[in-house]
Amino acid sequence: MKKIRTFGKYLKEKYGFRVKKIPLAIGGFTCPNIDGSVAKGGCTFCLNDSFSPNLAKNKDKIFLNLNSKENPILNKQIAQVILQIKQNKLQFQKKLKIKKYIAYFQAFTNTYAPFDTLKTLYETALNQKDIIGISIGTRSDSVEDEVLEYLSELSKTKEVWIEFGIQSTFDETLKRINRGHDVKSIKDAIKRAKRYNLNVCGHLIFGLPGENKEMMLKSAYESYEMGIDSVKFHPLYVVKNTILANEYLRGEFKPISMQEYIDVLVEAIDMMPKEIIIQRVTAGIKDSSLLAPSWCGEDKNYQMAQIKKALRRRGYVY
Ligand code: SF4
Repeated sequence: MKKIRTFGKYLKEKYGFRVKKIPLAIGGFTCPNIDGSVAKGGCTFCLNDSFSPNLAKNKDKIFLNLNSKENPILNKQIAQVILQIKQNKLQFQKKLKIKKYIAYFQAFTNTYAPFDTLKTLYETALNQKDIIGISIGTRSDSVEDEVLEYLSELSKTKEVWIEFGIQSTFDETLKRINRGHDVKSIKDAIKRAKRYNLNVCGHLIFGLPGENKEMMLKSAYESYEMGIDSVKFHPLYVVKNTILANEYLRGEFKPISMQEYIDVLVEAIDMMPKEIIIQRVTAGIKDSSLLAPSWCGEDKNYQMAQIKKALRRRGYVY
């Protein structure tokens, strides 16, 4: 049986103990695809409401003088980083007895703020007890070399990752989902990050509008070719009150079925270079905001069981 290289295994091998990622959603960050800098409205599947539209509208005001000691927004953001790390640690320690963590700046575009602000927030996370690294989720059009250089310096002593939403390597798809950047932008950002020796994770979505299996696999292949070190696979699901929800309700978009998703996932894994680390193989949402497909609202263990079964048939142990 062939072994899948998961992020958990990679960290255990490297550090000799289990390490868990703590997801952070820090208010004050927004996205250039929402606030009008790149586009308005965001990606068609993105629930903008959850990205604090008021903060988004006031981005310039928020980040004005953000580094002043008296700045209440920055102080609030620092407090959020500390609190969210503390709360998550408590949960993980209770359930899984994990002692070391990576702070994952997940929500919004976490390099889209003045450099000094970013440094303050990243360093706040790194200064918390038991935090051995950071992972920064962002967009390819929102990362300055100054930030990459700084992260590269940090990576000499800490576990540092940068995560880019690739989603698809077809410009027509990126346009259709109002991504606000093209494939060239993704290739350029990954190339720059690798030039700074950074660990890069690429996010891919299967089931995007207008894409067939061949296109999804081509996106996976081309992402591997870009030099990513790690990958997260997601099925596209429709959340209420999004542009995609309207397309779905008008019958213009058919969500991917569980079987179709697993088929493409297994093939994408099968053609992946063995050194690439898998961080995620599925996603879902277990609340009433999910419109379709219903299988994305199923228990995660159920989804994982089906995926593992399909991988086993291909000769893999997960
Ligand atoms: S890049 Fe991310 S945060 Fe921005 S609109 Fe798209 S999904 Fe939403």
